[in-house]
Amino acid sequence: MPAKIWFVGAGPGDPDLITVKGRALLEQAGAILFAGSLVDVAATLYAPAECEIRDSKDMTLEEMTAWLLDAAARHDTVVRLQTGDPGLYGALVEMTRPLDAAGIAWAVVPGVSSALASAAAAGETLTLPEVTQTVILTRVAGRTPMPEGEDLEALAAHHSTLCIFLSITLLHEVQRALRAAGWAEDAPILVVQKASWPGEEKIIRGTLADIKRKCQAEKVGAQAMIIASPALGARDWPSLVRSKLYDPSFGHRFRPATVHAPGDPSHE
Ligand code: SAH
Repeated sequence: MPAKIWFVGAGPGDPDLITVKGRALLEQAGAILFAGSLVDVAATLYAPAECEIRDSKDMTLEEMTAWLLDAAARHDTVVRLQTGDPGLYGALVEMTRPLDAAGIAWAVVPGVSSALASAAAAGETLTLPEVTQTVILTRVAGRTPMPEGEDLEALAAHHSTLCIFLSITLLHEVQRALRAAGWAEDAPILVVQKASWPGEEKIIRGTLADIKRKCQAEKVGAQAMIIASPALGARDWPSLVRSKLYDPSFGHRFRPATVHAPGDPSHE
C-alpha cells in the first residue's frame, strides 16, 4: 500500500535544505500540516496553489490526527511537515499510532537536523580523530523529564560532542551539568540561533564560563542549538591529530599505505 501521509523533514529553516524527495512531495501535496513558524516558508514556496495549508501550532495531538485523517480521505498525498528531522523531538510515534489504528499508510522522509545545520553554520566538525568520535543528541529536562541515566551530567562525563536541543532557556542547568562532569571553565561552547535562516542566523561562540552572558547580551532565548564539544575551534589549533583516513601512512580498503608509519609493521 503506497503511503498516504508523509512525515517530511523540512530541514533547519533554509527552504533549500529540504531533501529533493521532500520537496517533490510538497509539490504534489493536496494538504500540508506544518509544525509552527519554522517551516512555513518551505510549505508556501513549494506547495501547489490549491493545496490546503494549515499551521498546527494551536492544535492538540487529537486535532492534528483528525485533520490528517480528514485530509487523507480527500487527497492522495498529505504531508506533515516538521523542522529538521521528524525522528528527533518530533512526536512522530504519537502521531503515527492513530494512523496505524485507522489503517492509513504513512512514511517518513528524513531531514537535515538543526544539530547538523548549526555545526555547518559555524564551520565546525562534530567529530575529530583522537579528540571525539561520538556525538550525543540530547536535551535537559523541561516539562519532559529525562529518563534515568540520561541526565546531562552523566552524558557530559563522556567528554564527547553534545548537541543540546530545546534547552536555551535552561543554559544555567547546562553549565551546572558540564561543571559537575569536570568540563573546564574555558571549554568552548557554541550556540546557534535559527541556523540556516537567511538573514536571521546568529552564531555565539563562548566558553562554559561566559556563554550564558553572551547569549543574554545577544538576546538569544529561543530556537537555538547548544553545542559543547572538545572539537570546537579545531580549525585554529596550532596542530591537529590528523585523520587516519587521509594519512599517507594509513592504508585502507580503497587505498594502500604509501608511506610506512614508524613502528607500524602492518601492510593492510
Ligand atoms: N526535529 C528538529 C528538532 C525539533 S525540537 C531537528 O531535527 O532539528 C526544537 C529544537 O530544535 C529547538 O529548541 C532548537 O534547540 C532546535 N532547532 C530547531 N531549528 C533550529 C535552527 N534552525 N537553529 C538552531 N536550533 C534549532
